[in-house]
Amino acid sequence: MAAKVQNGHDETIFALSSGGVPAGIAVVRVSGPGVRFGLDTMLGNLPESRRMTLRPVRSAAGDVLDRCLVVFFDGAHSYSGEDTLELHLHGGPAVVTAVLDDLAQRSGFRAAEAGEFTRRAMENGRLDLTEVEGLADLIQAETEAQRRLALRQAEGFASGTFLRWRDELIRARAYVEADIDFADEDDVAADVSDRIWDSLARLRQDFVNHISSQAAERLRNGLEFVILGPPNAGKSTLINVLARREAAIVTDVPGTTRDLVEVRMDLGGVPVTLIDTAGLREASGDVIEEEGMRRARARASAADLTIAVVPMVDVDEESGVAEADVTVGSKADLLDSEAQRHLDSKGFDLMVSALTGDGMDRLESMLANKARAMAHDTGTAIVTRERHRAILREAEVALGEALDRPEDAIEIRAEALRRAADALGRATGAAAVDDLLDVIFRDFCIGK
Ligand code: GDP
Repeated sequence: MAAKVQNGHDETIFALSSGGVPAGIAVVRVSGPGVRFGLDTMLGNLPESRRMTLRPVRSAAGDVLDRCLVVFFDGAHSYSGEDTLELHLHGGPAVVTAVLDDLAQRSGFRAAEAGEFTRRAMENGRLDLTEVEGLADLIQAETEAQRRLALRQAEGFASGTFLRWRDELIRARAYVEADIDFADEDDVAADVSDRIWDSLARLRQDFVNHISSQAAERLRNGLEFVILGPPNAGKSTLINVLARREAAIVTDVPGTTRDLVEVRMDLGGVPVTLIDTAGLREASGDVIEEEGMRRARARASAADLTIAVVPMVDVDEESGVAEADVTVGSKADLLDSEAQRHLDSKGFDLMVSALTGDGMDRLESMLANKARAMAHDTGTAIVTRERHRAILREAEVALGEALDRPEDAIEIRAEALRRAADALGRATGAAAVDDLLDVIFRDFCIGK
């Protein structure tokens, strides 16, 4: 694809693009017209495009601020689509501050806003909307499965799919319109449009499948597993043991109440927040307790999975076991073997002891399997957010109008196909282009 260069931004933007300092290297990125026409004083002259070179980096006053590797990218070969400079500075706070301060003082230069390099990349046609979304997800990805999904989207998998579908609709419409305009010509069989309806029906089914698939979105957002059970069942002990094993992304979820234990962890590549509603159940005052119970129930009903933890000693009532998706018998270490036999009939999915660690492997892999089954990247998922689903719904409705009303005039059905194609065009942010005649002439050799 021929890249458009320099979309006319006057301002040159800059930012520290790597992580916090101090660090081994700090990358400052500069993008805009000032790179070519304003930074000769900084580097002596502009280095050859896309070749890393060691240079002194000078302030506007001529002082050497650092001596480091720099790369210049001409606009046709840069991320943003504009002339870009990367300064791979020594990652000390004073070095970075000196360079950023110097850039800020240059005329036409200013600090970049969040996402501004990428916004310029999109404006310059380097990335489309779904690719931008994928990049945002890639930066946010916490787990391996999220990383794979985001990378695939950033590299255009979803765009490719939307555009392929859109092409198919445009082509179908071309056939249908050809039937209208050229039905008396020999090249075009009179029933030519009939052939397309079958494949359009299959396309519609594809849309329906993708609309109903939640996997990619769940993977992107993470799952919520709620732990239920009576006080002192060992719920928080169990969560702590699981969390320690999965130390990778264990964090306190911000904004939670003191009483509610929430731990976010990586289970089978899927980010899962484990929520212990125990504190709420144990609240003291009646009103508060009721409100707590209400919240606990609301949380449980919204959960992707509920796990009941019931102590296997004194298990006289069923205490929520029946309603939960998974029932775990806790404190298995306190059982003697006779009690164990008795409990085998109680319908626990598994028995654990958080104290000795018995059964914890099985619990962990069971939860990981459930997380994977609910949210794992299927390899073809493209609906990673509601925007995609809304677009697909719109396309599906329009396509349905074309398919379900054979009694309508062909012009009306063709118009419905156009609306479906336009909707898909919005997925990538590409303007709806009328490629219709191109397709007709290419496929039909009209005028021979
Ligand atoms: P929660 O109220 O359900 O969160 O229960 P806790 O995790 O606070 O545990 C209640 C009590 O049971 C504590 O004294 C724990 O040390 C104890 N406990 C937790 N898990 C086990 C276990 O697997 N075996 C034994 N014997 N005691 C446990």
